[in-house]
Amino acid sequence: MLESEQYSRNNLMDFIQYRPLDIEICDVTLRDGEQTPGVAFTKEQKLAIASELDSMGIEIIEAGFPVVSEKEKEIVKEIANQGFKSRICCLSRAVKGDVDAALECDVDIVSIFIAMSDLHLKYKYHKSFEEMLHCAKETIEYASDHGLKIRFAAEDSSRTPIDRLKQAFKEVETEYKVQYVSLADTVGILNPTTTHYLVSEIFKEINTSICIHCHDDLGMATANTLAAAEAGAKQLHTTVNAIGERAGNAALEEVLVALRVQYGIDRYDTTRLTALSRMVSDYSGIIPSVNKAVVGQNAFTHESGIHVAAILEEPLTYELFPPEMVGGKRNLVIGKHTGKKALKGIINSIGLCLEREELCALIEKVKVCTEEKNKSISRDQLERMITQVRQETKTTEKGEEKFSI
Ligand SMILES: [Zn+2]
Repeated sequence: MLESEQYSRNNLMDFIQYRPLDIEICDVTLRDGEQTPGVAFTKEQKLAIASELDSMGIEIIEAGFPVVSEKEKEIVKEIANQGFKSRICCLSRAVKGDVDAALECDVDIVSIFIAMSDLHLKYKYHKSFEEMLHCAKETIEYASDHGLKIRFAAEDSSRTPIDRLKQAFKEVETEYKVQYVSLADTVGILNPTTTHYLVSEIFKEINTSICIHCHDDLGMATANTLAAAEAGAKQLHTTVNAIGERAGNAALEEVLVALRVQYGIDRYDTTRLTALSRMVSDYSGIIPSVNKAVVGQNAFTHESGIHVAAILEEPLTYELFPPEMVGGKRNLVIGKHTGKKALKGIINSIGLCLEREELCALIEKVKVCTEEKNKSISRDQLERMITQVRQETKTTEKGEEKFSI
């Protein structure tokens, strides 16, 4: 087994009853991710991100919202004509003009959305549920007549009465050919239990594949996405680095790694995740927090003496999965918690070796420095300290030459 494939299995999964996962990923970084305040990708940036997603094995890329502008339409069209293996999808309101824009872009799938919650019907549309469903049906029929594959998306599903959702999905499924119906937790109100319930109820009612689109307002988007998959959702929506409006969406990197280490789904090339995260971070100007799962700067960083000493013996002691699995690197940091054994291991790992006296002198120096300045020591600083310690030890030994490599 390759080192990058060694991870700890969650054996408790053997005791849990869930439907075997039958999933695909629809990444919405280029559409929902771009709706993050202050983010606007250029054509080249969108193409580069789409290309990475395609290489990784992501089944569907939501490329944009073509009716927004001529430029947006041009970019979506260019992505759709790249010959990617990923299918390309775009967003459309329940308006024929939006479908016309989608048709001009040569996309594979159009996502036609309406909201059916009381709040959105009353304050956004000023229309009744029946009127909005009628708009959706007309637009679906138009798109279908023009040969598009269709996702019928219910914005704000999680605040829509469940019987209303069932009625709308059932009618649309019976009257038209739609490939997907989509449940959107637009304001992130769901938790894993309620997500599971919602998806299960819809799953019982209809035969069309279900999509789940989670926002992270309560920090549960990834967990909710996986709960939906366990309840039978087919298409899981994600964004790279979890970018998106407000608190963002379910993170691609978290969902893919969880699918692999929890559910054994290993067909995605997760080794590209760190590079993709850096790319989206550069293009969006949004740097993931240092403790962000999978791609944060500290995701594979260890300072505590006990942890580092154990990691040097066997990385699985303090890492669920190895950094190589996501194209990352392990980082052993020297700070106030670093013990002698860990320091020795770190020094050996950079190809150096110290005598016992030198090591004792170095650990004292490290402690003083990290406690005074209250921060970690970089590799350059460490190498300077080693040189200093060697000179000082030589002096105190009255010129006696010490052997070191
Ligand atoms: Zn969204």
